[in-house]
Amino acid sequence: MAVCCICDVEIGSPPECISFHRFPKQDNRKLRWLTVINENIKNFAFTANSQICSQHFTVDCFVVTCSGRRYLKSNAVPSIFSMPLKQGLEMTQPVNTVLVFIYILIHE
Ligand SMILES: [Zn+2]
Repeated sequence: MAVCCICDVEIGSPPECISFHRFPKQDNRKLRWLTVINENIKNFAFTANSQICSQHFTVDCFVVTCSGRRYLKSNAVPSIFSMPLKQGLEMTQPVNTVLVFIYILIHE
């Protein structure tokens, strides 16, 4: 069963247009993905079976074939992490910055 390693969406769950993608095999591309993910998400653990769903990619990251199958372009990198995350994962900097800002507003 394919499960997204970031947002925990399972294959077959709505919306059905979600596709699942394995991490790139090439080390330099895999490293780019992991760097971006680690910059945005705390506690992310990568395994060889990790798959990431299409919700984390912008539309221009995909190539659609005549049969409707979606493939990631070779230079695609995940960039969208603003959905509810898998249990145990947390957004890093951006959310914390907002929380600190709200904390300051409340306490001033
Ligand atoms: Zn996902």
